[in-house]
Amino acid sequence: MIETPPATLRLRVDTGALGHNWRALDRLSGSASAGAAIKSNCYGLGIEKCLPVLRDAGCKAFYVAHWSEVAGAANHVPAEQIAVLHGPITDTEARYALETGAVPVINTLEQARRWNEAGGGRCHLMIDSGINRLGISLHEVGDPAIAALEVDVIMSHLACADEDSAMNARQLARFRKVLPLITHRAESLANSAGIALGSDYHFDLTRPGLALYGGVPRSELAGTIRQVAFPEVSVIQRRSIEAGETVGYSATWTAKQRTEIAVASLGYADGFLRAWHDGEPHLLRGETRLPIIGKISMDMIVLDCSAMPDLREGDWLSVPYWLPNAAQRSGLSQYELLTILGRRFDG
Ligand SMILES: *Cc1c(COP(=O)(O)O)cnc(C)c1O
Repeated sequence: MIETPPATLRLRVDTGALGHNWRALDRLSGSASAGAAIKSNCYGLGIEKCLPVLRDAGCKAFYVAHWSEVAGAANHVPAEQIAVLHGPITDTEARYALETGAVPVINTLEQARRWNEAGGGRCHLMIDSGINRLGISLHEVGDPAIAALEVDVIMSHLACADEDSAMNARQLARFRKVLPLITHRAESLANSAGIALGSDYHFDLTRPGLALYGGVPRSELAGTIRQVAFPEVSVIQRRSIEAGETVGYSATWTAKQRTEIAVASLGYADGFLRAWHDGEPHLLRGETRLPIIGKISMDMIVLDCSAMPDLREGDWLSVPYWLPNAAQRSGLSQYELLTILGRRFDG
């Protein structure tokens, strides 16, 4: 077999920082223990790289969205520790849960009945306390299908935990009201931002996602969370241009003098957006800033590398990627930024 050469974009995952972030969030969860949302390939950073780190740090509760994510996660952690947030919406999925041991999160009365009929057993139960996305409604908690469940973790999800919204206290109150009405072993409400809302929100188990991977959803977490994802790209050409020459589509940039330029393998198809920067857009080599000039192409950007005479084809540059800043500049959420990082980044 002919081996494909390595990609010219790579995503370095600082596993030390990832482990640090989980331990910090576990500590901030007080008497509760932290789980980990690992859906969407660990928010785009790669389950193969991230999951063993979270497991070795001490995490014992993992959340995926889809049943298709179970097998990959079960290569690293016991299936009993994997909860599937979307729940069993077909009999096939319910059977798959029973066969693999992965734990369904029951979100509707129909799912509860399906799970009971399939043979049931340990499951988690999502209560909708106001986000109106997934979970049984408050008026459904008395249904016999719910009473028949063997609920391990009863959970709910906050809609506005990253804001100082009255919604948080309202959801907390609704969640509390339901707890005595359903037999369960453990309780869980907070995502990353919810952990920073204080001990009232911690219950037995927290479910951070974003902050594990370097996102900072609330300023309280700013001093604690470390950057985990470091995108790096190759230089694919270097050239000199004369004063008066232009660079890129629409010829938006004109050289004022003879300029050394480098082309880097990074474009909007890789998730790198024009809106990324407010100040001077740049990539980094060590501490040196290389300004981005002209427009961003599909797979390329051009840099002024006059300050770096030794830069060569094949050298690696790093992309500034502190998520709170990138979000502010791009107008995208930190979640979107993490998960849109192009699939062309070598894992
Ligand atoms: C994704 C998700 C989380 C993690 O949320 P973050 O905001 O990324 O910390 C927790 N709970 C549920 C139900 C989720 O869907």
